[in-house]
Amino acid sequence: MKICILMTALVSISLWIAFFSQRPAFASEEDARQAIAAPQYQANIATLGENLSVQAALEHILTLEPRTLSDLIEITEIPAPPFAEEHRAAHFADMLRRAGLSDVSIDDIGNVVGRRPGTVGDRTIALSAHLDTVFPLTTDVTVRTEGQRHFAPGIGDNSRGLIVVLTVLRAMEHAGLKTEADILFIGNVGEEGLGDLRGIKHLFRQGAEPIDSIIVVDGGSASRIVTGGVGSHRYRITYRGPGGHSWGAFGMANPHHALGRAISLFDQTALAVTREGPRTSYNIGRMGGGTSINSIPFESWMEVDMRSETQEKLDEIDAVFQLALQQALEEENREREYGPSLEVVIERVGTRPAAQGDRYSQLVQHAIAATLAFEIEPVLLSSSTDSNLPLSLGIPAVTISRGGQGGNSHSPYEWWENADGHVSIQIGLLILLAEAILAK
Ligand SMILES: [Zn+2]
Repeated sequence: MKICILMTALVSISLWIAFFSQRPAFASEEDARQAIAAPQYQANIATLGENLSVQAALEHILTLEPRTLSDLIEITEIPAPPFAEEHRAAHFADMLRRAGLSDVSIDDIGNVVGRRPGTVGDRTIALSAHLDTVFPLTTDVTVRTEGQRHFAPGIGDNSRGLIVVLTVLRAMEHAGLKTEADILFIGNVGEEGLGDLRGIKHLFRQGAEPIDSIIVVDGGSASRIVTGGVGSHRYRITYRGPGGHSWGAFGMANPHHALGRAISLFDQTALAVTREGPRTSYNIGRMGGGTSINSIPFESWMEVDMRSETQEKLDEIDAVFQLALQQALEEENREREYGPSLEVVIERVGTRPAAQGDRYSQLVQHAIAATLAFEIEPVLLSSSTDSNLPLSLGIPAVTISRGGQGGNSHSPYEWWENADGHVSIQIGLLILLAEAILAK
């Protein structure tokens, strides 16, 4: 039934194509958020939809629904915090093998990489989802089901992403689909928190086997197509001094006071950066230090996150931050009455490059066309995902939805519901086939 709707949509695309004659242009930034597919890419997706083997694969995704859900529960119940993804990785590698891939390995850093050779093999296209969740090893990750809703930390972000990757493979194997390009089915480590994209950085490191383009599965609603990477810089800052008695040593430099000055200075000057231009943010997320109410602390620390849609703005807000740190240090040291001066230790704990992808690239256009084929209006946006890294290297990348509905992600009350979740898997399959070129 759903397939019939799909096929009607695909046929109607062929009709729409007649109405498009020129490369679309975005009149304003607001318009740019509305996605338009150029005719040739809509035609590619429509042609795929007319292929009987592709139809069999799309249909199989629907048939697989109960299996897809049991796969999801299985993988969700294996904890996978950043830097401790190995159990989930081993299991995911097995799942790929059992789904039909013979060439599956775990690389030096812990990424699961399964290669499905193409008939030509001159290009390599990756379909990837991150293995890690934000939750520590001790978190109870048992899936609890209430009606249609499944609750468990990490069930949506990104256990479901992994299952989308797996199910696309299952569907291709079932229908015997061959592609010209090699396809890598990947479960990568280190997307969340202090993982700092280490998995994806490793896959795109210098000297690695080249990946020509990558489709990342991570994110909610099926309409979302992430074409830009929100970059971030993250720091742990520590002001250090000798410390002492609050009464007896009064007049010595105080690390907490220096930290307070730094935050105040940064907050005042950062607004000039965030108020205009590409969206930029900053946040002091955690702070601490000190031994007791009546002691001058020997250290004061904070963790800071800055983000922007462009690298230029990210560098700008970072510069403002660095200035505030030094100015606060100088002020606190200058105003002390006696004792050693404070020092500030600046640790960079995260770097995600910001980069905007090309909305007219073949990959993005195929993603738009495949989404439209299901009569879903795509929304193009920037977000912080594994795509940031390839985009910053000029390699085509797009982040697509894991499908279904979910909520409370990054919280212990995370839930996911299979509301037409198969559609996102079908969209993923079509984008992958268009990009890797279905072999004749
Ligand atoms: Zn995620």
